[in-house]
Amino acid sequence: MAKFVVTPSSEAQRDAWLGGTIPEVERVRPGLWSVPVPIPINPLRYVLVYVLELPDGVAIVDAGWNTDEAYAALAAGLRVAGYDMTDVKGVLVTHLHPDHYGLAGRIREASGAWIALHPADAALVHDRYDEGAIDALVARERAVLVRSGVPELTLDELAGASMMIRHMVSMAKPDRLVEDGERLDLPGWDLRAIWTPGHSPGHLCFVSPSRKVLFSGDHVLAKITPIVAVHPQSGPNPLADYLDSLAAVRTLDVEEVLPAHEYRFLELAERVDYVMAHHDERLAEIERVVAAAGDGVSCWAVATRLTWSRPWETIPPFMRRAANNETLAHLTWLEAKKRVRRVPGEPDLWFPEANSL
Ligand SMILES: [Zn+2]
Ligand SMILES: [Zn+2]
Repeated sequence: MAKFVVTPSSEAQRDAWLGGTIPEVERVRPGLWSVPVPIPINPLRYVLVYVLELPDGVAIVDAGWNTDEAYAALAAGLRVAGYDMTDVKGVLVTHLHPDHYGLAGRIREASGAWIALHPADAALVHDRYDEGAIDALVARERAVLVRSGVPELTLDELAGASMMIRHMVSMAKPDRLVEDGERLDLPGWDLRAIWTPGHSPGHLCFVSPSRKVLFSGDHVLAKITPIVAVHPQSGPNPLADYLDSLAAVRTLDVEEVLPAHEYRFLELAERVDYVMAHHDERLAEIERVVAAAGDGVSCWAVATRLTWSRPWETIPPFMRRAANNETLAHLTWLEAKKRVRRVPGEPDLWFPEANSL
């Protein structure tokens, strides 16, 4: 597959990303700022929070992880733009993942800002102290792994990565639910929400037709592709949702993509085409592995036979779980297209569709 490389619209930001550092706070254009907020112990290193100036304060797109360091970085970034945390009127959150949503509650406590989220992600925000809900989630995650054929020895290690889930549910409830196509009433901004499920069931992008910018969250990024996986908080066929959501933004008339990670860039349609082609290739590879196995293979066994960015044996447990669940998303997509067939069990076994004749 021919490599397509996007054009960064801030070389300084791109260089910081590639150089392993945190970029500067930047004015993207009049009335719009980019504030990198660090994420602890994560290769993504930071979330890019966008600050939108309003007549009486600011709104922000995404919030950051719930740590003191992140809060301080956001406060410092707001000061560079000439504002204070108490000036935040609204927090538009692209999706419920902790690096985007985690800090929203604390910002609301400081400023009285409203928090907006899509209903499908809002439905996944459990009560802050509901330990029972967390245990139930871990049990459901374990069930997904059992049906994937994860070896017994690794099961608890993989399912017990519950700290991640804990971060995901220890969150404030949103004040506003934003639907697909909704216009946000932000003075001076013609911002419209676009529902882009896939990476999460309620992922939102925000487009400004007059400024020709797309706040793309984790949906479209410069170099990486977001994890699209089957898990207890995903839709039944998240890859189908994701590919539809790529199509939904592909033809937008924008000049610049403002993602939540890495760096901002110019070419939306070309990047979308490249990501779609990447998934086509992955689907074809998985179909080949299932065909080569012939007489039924588990999702986990398929995952171990795929090409990853490093040898399977060296992938740490948490990432193996994501790899398994991503493979399951692709198998589920192929099943819906009748390119593979699933025989349910513990584990589910996957067959080439021709065998079903
Ligand atoms: Zn995410
Ligand atoms: Zn993210």
